[in-house]
Amino acid sequence: MQKGEFLYEGKAKRIYATEEPNVFWMEFKDDATAGNGQKRGTIGDKGRINAEITQRVFEHLERGGVRTHLLRQESPTVLLVKKLEMFRLEIVVRNIAAGSLVKRIGLEEGREMPEPIVEIYLKDDELGDPLVNDDHVKALGLATEVELAALKAAARKVNDLLRPYFLDRGLLLVDFKLEFGKEDGQIVLGDEVTPDTCRFWDEKTREKLDKDRFRQDLGGVEEAYQEVLRRVDEPHA
Ligand code: ADP
Ligand code: UDP
Repeated sequence: MQKGEFLYEGKAKRIYATEEPNVFWMEFKDDATAGNGQKRGTIGDKGRINAEITQRVFEHLERGGVRTHLLRQESPTVLLVKKLEMFRLEIVVRNIAAGSLVKRIGLEEGREMPEPIVEIYLKDDELGDPLVNDDHVKALGLATEVELAALKAAARKVNDLLRPYFLDRGLLLVDFKLEFGKEDGQIVLGDEVTPDTCRFWDEKTREKLDKDRFRQDLGGVEEAYQEVLRRVDEPHA
């Protein structure tokens, strides 16, 4: 497959066309941002690590019956993916209180949720990705009621598949963000699942092994990303 016309550069990836009209070339970058772009930096080898992790996780999700955009890994930092018509929404699932949930509703960090919490955010950098409810989404025309129900059900299914997958690897899946799109009217998981978009804590020590190390200047950022990839490749190690 040939890399074609440059289409889009985001905070973590660059998208190019290919000779196939329905296939995108998705290149993962080492760039890192936090606080809605206020903090910027690079994380060594992040592009490769995140491409590898997404490839493994999406294959696991496909085996579990979740439709994803993944076609194949083309090179260390590149995934070939199906072109989707993306929902301008971020679906967040939370198993353990952390991050904005702690700030917004005052739960203590680390509190296990009685059942997973699903939240919807508007994907809009200028507005700072606000939390929205179903009525807001419908008012904005971003998804129908039926689509919203399908998005939430798909996000819960991803959580049901990924919690045990990561626990087998000694990682607690604290929370994560998903982006979905549509292909021929069907809802398909797009984007990535990586330490940029998930919180992972070591099951025993509760050490943070994700982008919070960058957000909070904890050090050992690259090592944490490498450790997640190592564990993804070595379950039960
Ligand atoms: P951002 O745009 O949030 O800065 P990225 O740097 O990760 O994020 O850019 C990737 C962009 O590609 C995102 O806008 C995401 O919604 C979009 N995207 C992800 N998967 C697909 C896909 N299969 N088809 C079309 N767009 C996609
Ligand atoms: N997240 C993300 N992109 C965003 C916002 C959140 O990938 O634009 C992920 C984040 O890494 C975490 C989960 O979604 O795993 C919940 O994030 P939270 O709402 O706590 O926001 P934060 O305080 O991390 O910005």
